[in-house]
Amino acid sequence: MNPFRADLHCHTTCSDGTLNPTQLIQLAVEKGLSGLSITDHDTVAAYPEAILTAHVHSLPLLTGVELSAVCQKKSVHLLAYAFPLHSSVMQACCKEQCLRRRLRAEQVLHKLSTHGMPLTQADFPPSAWRHAIGRPHIAQAMMKRGYVSSLSQAFHSYLGHRKPCHVPWEGQSVEEMIDIIHAAKGLAILAHPHLIKEETLLKRLLRLPFDGIEGYYGTFPLHIQERWVSIGRQKGWLITGGSDFHGETKPLLSLGSSWVSEETFQRLWHHAQSHEETHE
Ligand code: AMP
Ligand code: FE
Ligand code: FE
Ligand code: ZN
Repeated sequence: MNPFRADLHCHTTCSDGTLNPTQLIQLAVEKGLSGLSITDHDTVAAYPEAILTAHVHSLPLLTGVELSAVCQKKSVHLLAYAFPLHSSVMQACCKEQCLRRRLRAEQVLHKLSTHGMPLTQADFPPSAWRHAIGRPHIAQAMMKRGYVSSLSQAFHSYLGHRKPCHVPWEGQSVEEMIDIIHAAKGLAILAHPHLIKEETLLKRLLRLPFDGIEGYYGTFPLHIQERWVSIGRQKGWLITGGSDFHGETKPLLSLGSSWVSEETFQRLWHHAQSHEETHE
């Protein structure tokens, strides 16, 4: 029998992943995973379809979402888990975030056109604008049009922080987002802390009332994991983990390359169960 492994961080075509919800669940089953949480950027739209496929394969599927927020003018990602899927607070939050994403994408397209790189709706797959459009969709469209030769070139030359076609994320503060997650009866986790490069920002974030930290991540070598795991332990936080699988666009992050144990998964699962029947 496979040891218990639950990957708690992955994306579908509802945000910037390349597998649809059914394909993602099927891959999780093929990989022998024991549990999964789908954490699309700012949407839970994958869940209705994913729940059906997960049920067919008896794969425990925990609710999750990766929410964008702001701290010290920097974009910070939070993972929310174990909230009731139909929480009106979470549904309203995702709706607002997706609207903000569409507005931001339009601003990026405007900047690109002034830099001689026009893009139209026809340059995107229809799924891109449906839920949580992100810069990876734009980078792919730029590549298809021949404006850049790779996704990373699109980010490094145009879409990344301080680059000419960058539009910063403006929205809820991290503090506000933690409150929203708690109001939705979810658990708030600081996502991929290794991506936070400024120590002052990190210090401030670590003082906030998170319930956990993502200590195990995709390609982390052990010594890097240890830092986040020990911070999480000191604070008595949950230590979560996952691959941040996106499919073809990030081939180095394979599904199941990072995971949590049965004990952590059960804690999250029980949290979800205990709030399933209670109404907000
Ligand atoms: P957005 O959500 O629109 O702000 O875009 C951020 C997403 O873009 C991240 O979640 C990554 O999936 C992706 N991303 C960020 N930087 C890069 C990069 N240099 N190369 C490829 N993908 C990136
Ligand atoms: Fe992403
Ligand atoms: Fe992220
Ligand atoms: Zn992610």
